[in-house]
This record gives sequence, C-alpha cells and structure tokens, in this order.
Amino acid sequence: MDIEAFRKAGYQAIDRICDYYASLQERPVVSQVQPGYLLDALPSSAPEHGEQFDLIADDFQKLILPGITHWQHPNFFAYFPTASTFEGLLGDLYSSSVANPTFSWLASPACTELEQVVMDWSAKLFGLGDQFQNHSGVGGGVIQTTASEGLIVICVAARARYLRQNPDAKLEDLVIYTTTQTHSLGVKAGLVLGLQVRALEVKKENEYGLRGEDLRAALEEDHARGKRPFIVVATVGTTNSGAIDYLEEIGEVLKAYPSIWYHVDAAWAGVALACPEFRPLEKLDAINQYAESFCTNFHKWGLVNFDASGLWVRNRRDLIDALDVTPEYLRTKQHDAGLVVDYRNWHLGLGRRFRSLKIWFVLRSYGVEGFQAHIRKGVELNKHFVSLVRASPDFELVTTPSLALSVFRLRLPSTSTLSPDSAEGLAALNDLNRALNLRLSVDNDKIFITQTMLNGMICLRFAIGAQRTEKEHVDRAWDLIKQCATEMVGEWTKNHQV
Ligand SMILES: *Cc1c(COP(=O)(O)O)cnc(C)c1O
Repeated sequence: MDIEAFRKAGYQAIDRICDYYASLQERPVVSQVQPGYLLDALPSSAPEHGEQFDLIADDFQKLILPGITHWQHPNFFAYFPTASTFEGLLGDLYSSSVANPTFSWLASPACTELEQVVMDWSAKLFGLGDQFQNHSGVGGGVIQTTASEGLIVICVAARARYLRQNPDAKLEDLVIYTTTQTHSLGVKAGLVLGLQVRALEVKKENEYGLRGEDLRAALEEDHARGKRPFIVVATVGTTNSGAIDYLEEIGEVLKAYPSIWYHVDAAWAGVALACPEFRPLEKLDAINQYAESFCTNFHKWGLVNFDASGLWVRNRRDLIDALDVTPEYLRTKQHDAGLVVDYRNWHLGLGRRFRSLKIWFVLRSYGVEGFQAHIRKGVELNKHFVSLVRASPDFELVTTPSLALSVFRLRLPSTSTLSPDSAEGLAALNDLNRALNLRLSVDNDKIFITQTMLNGMICLRFAIGAQRTEKEHVDRAWDLIKQCATEMVGEWTKNHQV
C-alpha cells in the first residue's frame, strides 16, 4: 500500500468507524455468533498472493463486526465499563503512525517525556501526592498494559526489596496477601512468579472490606509458622461489589512490618478520585499516607481506549533495582548521566507502546471538568438505578451501591414460605437468580449484565460508565430486567416447591 492508497483506505476507515458509532444502538450488545463461526469462515492459511485492500476492509465489516461484543454500546452494563472516546482512538492512530518501541529515552524522547507529563497530570487529577509524581525524582508514574501486569511488576519489586532486607528469607516461604474479594490479578501474579497467595477472609458486616485486625491476626499466624508475607494487595472498588478495604487500618498494622509492600488496586474505581467528593469514600488520604504503589485503569471508566493502566510508586528505585536491564547496546549517555527516565526498567517487557498520547488527547480535550462530569454522570445514573431497585418489592440490593456499580438480586416470590436466611432459602434464591441471569442472557442482544457470587449468594451486577449510556438506557434496562423476572418467576414457581 502506498501513501495515496493509504489516504483513500484511511478516509474510508474513518467513515466506516463513524457509521459504526452512529448505528451502535441498533446492534445487538453481545455478539450473536456461534463458537467456531470465524474459524469456519476463514481459510486455514494466509493467502499465497496479496489481496486487494478493498476486499480485506470489507471483510472486517462482513466477518469481524458480527463477532464483536459492543463494549461501547449504551446498554452494556456487564463486567466494568470501557469508556473509550474518539480522542483516545485518534491518539492510538497517531501512536501507531510513528510505530516505535520507545524502550529508552533516546529511542523517542517525546514518548518518555509525554508519559512523565501525563502521569503527573493524572496524579494531580486524582489527588495523589507529590511523592507519587515524576517531578519528585523519587517516586513516579508509568503506564502499564493492564492492572494485572502492573501487579506482577510490583510483586517483582516488592520481592526483591524484601529479600534484600531479609536475606534469610526463602523464596518458597514468601506469600502474597490478598482478600477473597481481590481481583484474580492476585492469583495470576502468584502463578506467574511461583509464589503462594493467601486470600484473607472478609466479612459481610464490613461490606467485604479488609480490616486491620484481621490482617494483623493473619500476619502473626503466618510469621509463627515461618511464612513470609511480603506484599499486601488492598482494593478500592472490588470487582464483585465495589468494596473498599480499610486502608488506614491496614497502613497502621503494616507500620510494624516495614519490609512488607503495600499496594492499592483501584483499577476500576480509582478514576473517580478525580472528583473531590469521592475522595473520602475512596480513602485518598490513606493512599497518600501509606500506600507504596497505586493503580487505576484509564481504560475502564477513564475515557481512554484499552489499553492504558496507570501505576504510581513512591520509590522508583524499587522498580529499577528489581528490573534494570541495560546491556551495552542499550546504554545511552543520557542514561549514564542520570538525566533521563528509561521506562523499560519500570515494566515487564523491553519495548512499550506509546500510550501517553491518547491519555494526553483525552485530558486536554475533556479538561479536568469534563473528566469529572463523566464520572459524576455515571454515579448519578447509578443513583437512579438504585432508586428503581428500591422501588420494586421483588428485588433487593445486596450491598451498598458503590459509585457506578450496584449489586442486587431477586427476592423469593411472595408466595414462598422459605426464609431467605435458611439453607433452603439461600439455595432457592440462588437458583432463582441464576435462572434470571440465564433468562437475561437470552435477551443479551438488548442488554448485557453479569452475575457474581458474594459469600455464597448469587447476585447480579449492574455496572454503569460507558460513555454513551444515558438515563433512558438505564430505564429501559430496568424494564427489561423486571419483565424477564416476571416471566421467569412464573415458570420457576410452577417447577419448584416454594
Ligand atoms: C478490572 C480490574 C482488574 C484487572 O484489570 P486488568 O487491567 O484487566 O488487568 C483488577 N482489579 C480490579 C479491582 C479491577 O476492577
């Protein structure tokens, strides 16, 4: 493809992307294809002779789009939002255009320095203190591919520091501390690094947040049996229910264990720190006072197209000491003189994508105000959703709604004599809610929500935050949920002894 052919294909691509967004509402939210649809449709090897680009581009429309689940659809309420924007999309396009792996400052000074700048902008946007900012020269922020990769990086740094400070510790005794509500990223880090993971129990009466006393008890128990917990992964906004650990209590307990690293995973909820009114809820003061690292994903609720996960550390040396690889061919005089940041030593790979560009585009185009307005809109829409759930006698909220996430479930039908607290009652409730989720998944061309399990209870999650979701979408989603429930409960009551 030459420049003129690219110009033509590029204009066409933008036109088609605009059409895609204009017609998004009419598309099924969840892809309706069957497993293997694409494997059957495509040849088993690459073409021997190059093909016309027109044909290739048409096949995107014909073969790929039907197999896409539309995360940008206004009726997407599953998992968590990926609120992407045209600004972010254009950032990725320009970033691709200079295609470069930017592993050192010299490999493309703009990429490194823009990353330093946008990570400081975002730290300020979220209220993170100077200690986490690049201009401090001590701490700093770096963009990771995902929160999961970010945690692996942090565990590597925490492990190296722990072993330096505790030379007698054996690798097989090291333990990563998480809770039963921690995202699977904790387990993943343990698997990748060959380390044990202990998931501490959290209680319903604490809204599924980890308390200091429970952490202390676990630490004492593990130390007594020769285990070496070396990192605590706390969460602000768990995936199951948006729970927030007791960050200050955890910080106070960890004062007695200075070689244990304290990481705060706020992959989904962290971007809400942009609004001062949510900072007390999200325990910003404790993050600034105690945490050694903090993560939030721009690519969830934060208006930046996947992927862009923000990671800030209090002491960049911890990363560099653990991850520095500078063979002769990567040495530069700027690095040797200590004048520049070389981000290859702050993440897992060598090369890295130029992701700061899309964050820069988004933050400039939205401004702090626009970013805050987006977050507030999600929280307001969730308040509206909550009022709808509360107004319906057939449903109940399972946990206190968290920002733009609600966890709810269907109650037992009024004809039921079972107590919801009895084992039979719980089993019946779980059955009922599983059936509702299944029933809703039949209608997943209209809305998409997902279920979860909280202390043995099957619940439904309603996660708001897609950039195009408005009140009317929430209203319609709720109507559909109620309608499915009515149909389903009728059936269910016929088939079950209640
Ligand atoms: C989504 C999420 C993750 C995982 O994020 P990735 O960037 O996909 O790794 C981890 N923790 C929490 C709390 C999340 O919401």
